Amino acid sequence: MALMIGTECMSCGLCIEECPNDAILDSNPIYVIDPDLCTECVGVFDEPQCVRVCPMEVIIPNPDYAESQEQLLEKERRILGSRDPDQ
Ligand code: SF4
Repeated sequence: MALMIGTECMSCGLCIEECPNDAILDSNPIYVIDPDLCTECVGVFDEPQCVRVCPMEVIIPNPDYAESQEQLLEKERRILGSRDPDQ
């Protein structure tokens, strides 16, 4: 399940630096998570890094994107495979 950022977000920017998939966008008025790029950090970290650093504790599961652990792992592999190795 991709995560989403609640409306209490204060746009501090801490989460953007932590996301391994560049899934978090600096949008107006609050930051947003691209569900196509969010994997809940499965396969990379033991816990969602954005949740770990969010001081407002407003990052929650996005009910519109229910995915199994296996689907999240597959998404992570797809994202990694699409990256330019020179980046
Ligand atoms: Fe990025 Fe992980 Fe947060 Fe998803 S859970 S937005 S992949 S840091």
